[in-house]
Amino acid sequence: MKVSFNSVKAVLTDIEGTTSSISFVKDVLFPYSKKHLKDFVQKHEGDPQVRRILKEVESLEAGDPLEVLLRWIDEDKKITPLKEIQGLIWEEGYKKGEIKGHIYEDAYRKLKEWHERGIPIYVYSSGSVKAQKLLFGHTPYGDINYLFSGYFDTKIGSKKDPESYRRIAKEIGFKPEEILFLSDNVDEVKSASEVGMKVVRFAREGENEYLENFPFPQVRSFEDLEIL
Ligand SMILES: [Mg+2]
Repeated sequence: MKVSFNSVKAVLTDIEGTTSSISFVKDVLFPYSKKHLKDFVQKHEGDPQVRRILKEVESLEAGDPLEVLLRWIDEDKKITPLKEIQGLIWEEGYKKGEIKGHIYEDAYRKLKEWHERGIPIYVYSSGSVKAQKLLFGHTPYGDINYLFSGYFDTKIGSKKDPESYRRIAKEIGFKPEEILFLSDNVDEVKSASEVGMKVVRFAREGENEYLENFPFPQVRSFEDLEIL
């Protein structure tokens, strides 16, 4: 389905399932952090930041913090110390060239077009802002962080809470009605719409299905999306 919008002044986009594949996170990033966790902690034992993160894990759950972290990865827990240590492990992986950030070509091209037209683009992802910048900093198209005017993670609030979208609108200085929000997640799309944002749901081939009777527009890729 082709969708076009008038009077969009800013774009707010999700990453996983929208600009980038879900499998990149599930099949590349998560296994990488799992595989390198023990080595990383051993190598950085003396690092105060790593020590603080491990202490935080211990304060949240009894037991060997490494085992706890490994289980949290499997359970896809959105817990700050886990996100922090994963961010550090991924940073090493990106810098060593062992990981490349995935972005769909259609996403890259369209975001670039909008950026060149002067439409500010913001990111809102449950991955930490640090992880977002690392991903977009190491793509097959190079460092594409210049495309983005700002980044939000769950520090601003849950992606399923309408209040988060109100806060983001306020922070970036646009009315909700002027912002186009993109996500593959039904609840996120509904929450953004609830505060008045324009919304589109992504149903990427092989990742998500089109939903029947869904009250908002759905697209397969950025090619189906036009800002007039
Ligand atoms: Mg998503």
